[in-house]
Amino acid sequence: ADAVPEREVDSLCPFCGVGCQLTYTVRGNEILSVEGRDGPANHKRLCVKGRFGFDYAHHPQRLTRPLIRREDAPKDAAAASDPDRALQAFREASWEEALERVGSRLRGLRDTLGGRALAGFGSAKGSNEEAYLFQKLVRTGFGSNNVDHCTRLCHASSVAALLEGLGSAAVSNPVMDVMQAEVVLLIGANPAVNHPVAASWIKNAVKQGTRLIVADPRRSDLARHAHRFLQFRPDTDVALLNAMMHVIVAEGLVDEGFIASRTIGYEALRHKVAPCSPELMAPVCGIDAGLIREVARLYATSRASMILWGMGVSQHVHGTDNARCLISLALMTGQIGRPGTGLHPLRGQNNVQGASDAGLIPMVFPDYQRVDSAAAREKFERLWQTRLDPHPGLTVVEVMHAIKAGQVRGMYIMGENPAMSDPDASHAREALAALDFLVVQDIFLTETACLADVVLPASAFPEKTGSFTNTDRTVQLGRQAIEPPGDARQDLWIIGQVARQLGLDWRYAGVSEVFEEMRHAMPSIAGISWQRLQRQGAVTYPCHSEDDPGAPVVFTGRFPTADGRGRFVPVDIIPAAEQPDADYPLVLITGRQLEHWHTGSMTRRSAVLDALEPDPVALVHPLDLAERDVAPGGVVTIESRRGRISLYARADDGMPRGAVFVAFCYAEAAVNGLTNDALDPFGKIPEFKYCAVRLRGG
Ligand code: SF4
Repeated sequence: ADAVPEREVDSLCPFCGVGCQLTYTVRGNEILSVEGRDGPANHKRLCVKGRFGFDYAHHPQRLTRPLIRREDAPKDAAAASDPDRALQAFREASWEEALERVGSRLRGLRDTLGGRALAGFGSAKGSNEEAYLFQKLVRTGFGSNNVDHCTRLCHASSVAALLEGLGSAAVSNPVMDVMQAEVVLLIGANPAVNHPVAASWIKNAVKQGTRLIVADPRRSDLARHAHRFLQFRPDTDVALLNAMMHVIVAEGLVDEGFIASRTIGYEALRHKVAPCSPELMAPVCGIDAGLIREVARLYATSRASMILWGMGVSQHVHGTDNARCLISLALMTGQIGRPGTGLHPLRGQNNVQGASDAGLIPMVFPDYQRVDSAAAREKFERLWQTRLDPHPGLTVVEVMHAIKAGQVRGMYIMGENPAMSDPDASHAREALAALDFLVVQDIFLTETACLADVVLPASAFPEKTGSFTNTDRTVQLGRQAIEPPGDARQDLWIIGQVARQLGLDWRYAGVSEVFEEMRHAMPSIAGISWQRLQRQGAVTYPCHSEDDPGAPVVFTGRFPTADGRGRFVPVDIIPAAEQPDADYPLVLITGRQLEHWHTGSMTRRSAVLDALEPDPVALVHPLDLAERDVAPGGVVTIESRRGRISLYARADDGMPRGAVFVAFCYAEAAVNGLTNDALDPFGKIPEFKYCAVRLRGG
């Protein structure tokens, strides 16, 4: 094997939204190692996932042949937690047979029950072109807008607030702008774990003088670098933010010129925050009134202040309200539209921005053009040469409820794992098992694939070429380094074959032709040709023409709203849907951890990453453990009204008292069996960051 020459392939990291560029060293069909490249977001840096998390692609559990459920193997929700047993329910099949089965069953449901009886979940791990074709397939092949993906579980509430307030759902400034900020407010985010290279830039900024304010119920790694740390009580974001705005208004720190020339709705906001003095809000959020005043002044009066946030803000029934407050903070102080200012919701998956832009959302076509707008519909009907459903489709959690109600009967799931990632996962698994027909396209027999009727073996990230859009709105090229194993196929090919089964006459010669159609449909990327992408490797949108360099900082002159103005949306304090009580006295917070990614299907099959964090752990304050007679490292059982898991306890004095944190990557302790599927009414995002549980040793 040593005689086979090594080669290098420039590509991207498949994990988080930072979008680090990297170079694979490949011999034959094997990736040997990964090095960071000089990309705009990482400048050669990589975190532990990017550097070591590539060998999942070579894992022996890769699916290499299509699978069809045996006739005598009924589906039951319990199979999702027993992959070995689940595998026995399938037989291998040819692509021809598997695709024919998918086509006949989906066509049958569509033609007898109508397009709204079908739904599709695409993937934020896939390319822009895969996302675009997947949503096009659902809208034109199924005949409904029932298409969604994990943005619904991630930043859907931030997107709702940003579209409403600023007319654009993407970030205003790139992460790297922290280097130009005088003050950075980081709230409800843990980038040291979830966006590690971004965290490294924040630390660099602090070192050169940026004042970092960290606000979070958990004391994260970046809190150690903070000028001020606000460990506010879980679920009290609005109380804290309204109090900050109260100070800014009361002390005359608003930017009156900016408010007058570029915004609407300020008076209503001013009235709303008038009663929210820091003294009144301090007992609610658990932060000293003086500290609230100090950080409000710091944010408002600095030359350039930037806000970054994560899912601690978004994953609440008041997630949209939380984001509305952050938008109002930026608007009232004019801290937006310049380098080093603005609003940056840190995107989770490596292509959750691009998948959303490409239209994997039930209420909008590509580029956020609403499905219930006659003009937008007409445009896409012309482009796609078919009639389109004028009604917004169902979101992720709504689909699960619609299955239980018998309204959705068939699904196509590509590269997502709702049996692990959805709230109240037992309910989600029961729903998936109850479908008349489920086809799953993935690289492993995931917990979701265990419940499928047909499983289609797909390609891993390094096995295909495509464009991906990172958290900074930068479109980058991921290049194929190796071939898929066995009979596994590239996702774009599979989507095309399913489309053909549904009667769609698609004739794309390759990925570049799909991208060219996207350019045509999406004004934001009109200036990014495939050739330009190949040449430059990274271009930031909005980019309207081939000679447009792209715009890392937006909203410099006007907002992309109908009247060009930003809109204040005042909000009230709304409590979490489920409060702790005598039976379930603790708060459960879920999230991710550094070494593993989302539902763990890739990173738990990566040797180094799994060796670093091999077992499920719950982070608990040492005093809460002592109160229950549990030694650090001991086994604990955590229970909610919906489920129970057992895992190891890790003492963490950065946790607030009365709360437990568990990452959702562990199938053997699937924490989403415990979470609550209560939804934010605007973003339809579930409340992953707050539900009531109890904990005991053993
Ligand atoms: Fe990959 Fe994100 Fe780590 Fe960069 S920071 S190497 S994109 S996981």
